[in-house]
Amino acid sequence: MIVAVEPTVAITVTNSSKYNWHFKNISLVDSFTQEEGGLWVENGIITDKPSANNDYHLVDGKGLLLMPAFIDLHAHFREPGFTYKEDMLSGCNAGAKGGFTAISLMPNTSPVLDKPEFINDLKKKYSDLLPLDIFYTASITEGQEGKKVVDFDNLSPLVWAFSDDGKGVDDPEVFQQALIKARDTNKTLLLHEEVSLAQMPLFSKNICPELWMVKRDLEMNQKIKASLHLTHLSNPQSIKMVDEAHKKSQPVTCDVTPHHLCLNMENFPYKVNPPLVNESTRKSLLELVRQGMVNAIATDHAPHSDEDKEKEAPGINNLELTFATLNNFLIRKGQITLPKLSFLLSLGPARILGISAYSGLLRNGFQADLVVIDPNRKSAMNINSFVSKSHNTPLLDYPLFGWPLLTLKKGEVVYNSGIIN
Ligand SMILES: [Zn+2]
Repeated sequence: MIVAVEPTVAITVTNSSKYNWHFKNISLVDSFTQEEGGLWVENGIITDKPSANNDYHLVDGKGLLLMPAFIDLHAHFREPGFTYKEDMLSGCNAGAKGGFTAISLMPNTSPVLDKPEFINDLKKKYSDLLPLDIFYTASITEGQEGKKVVDFDNLSPLVWAFSDDGKGVDDPEVFQQALIKARDTNKTLLLHEEVSLAQMPLFSKNICPELWMVKRDLEMNQKIKASLHLTHLSNPQSIKMVDEAHKKSQPVTCDVTPHHLCLNMENFPYKVNPPLVNESTRKSLLELVRQGMVNAIATDHAPHSDEDKEKEAPGINNLELTFATLNNFLIRKGQITLPKLSFLLSLGPARILGISAYSGLLRNGFQADLVVIDPNRKSAMNINSFVSKSHNTPLLDYPLFGWPLLTLKKGEVVYNSGIIN
């Protein structure tokens, strides 16, 4: 079911530079701002001193939000190897439709991105073709097998982080080598804190594997102090441990996913890793978000075909639904504020990626990576409305409020819902 609502926006397009914009009567929202007003963009940069002789696209945005575009630390575009689920272009287009302009990709492709040539192949194939900024990661160990660390020295110029994705590095000796290499090459280890039960000592088998792994990793890093980012944490205790380690001056950050914050396992029995949590744990996660212990929301966009999902492949298709999900389940219920959400989707991840000097805020001189949202537009995604190649989500046909209408990357349109001719 799609409930179509006519956009309320009026846009006058002149034949000016496509990178010049004037937004007026719009609700400006970023981590530090929530106010009605206007914003100018000139040559793709936010400016408070528009030059008088330029023409601008005029957006009269009554009732709409203008926010910094979103930045995702954790997505799977499945290329190479699984392009029937998603590829670089379909993934970017899904991201743009969801209001994202920068995305960090996981390396669990086929082959695994564990050698410079595999990443260079992708960069060459798509050199100018991708509408968004892509941040690559390489695996921590060869083939994500947990046995031998990759060639950090030759991979580090190509990536912002190393990750074995859905696998923790079980062997402590290998993990220690990875910590040292990450510190010495000044890169981040992006950790999915999962451990095979077989690797946990017998006495610890009654504690949650995520907690066990977070504790081990933070303890091992206390002396080495490599930069760590712990992704999709689902246990409130893990987040508290990250906060403790941070207080002991470890350079460590963490994120949670939209689905762990919005959906509980009782109402949405859907297979994801880590599993969805019960309602009381979901509320505890949210409380830690409110207290500022979480640095970002990352989508873990994990597209799968219907057939793979029937075989219990874990994962949820998130990019196009992220804002609407968070708006529907959290913002409209007063559980977090819009500036807080903007921090978690823009400034927080920008800081972790090291791009916060020019991205993540509505600030003079920043890149015009922007998203226009109609917070009251009610609509449901059905299997035909995805630009992603897959549509695996428990929110299929579920009406949600709040959808991106327009996404700009450096002032250039990368998604247009139809509000511009
Ligand atoms: Zn993942």
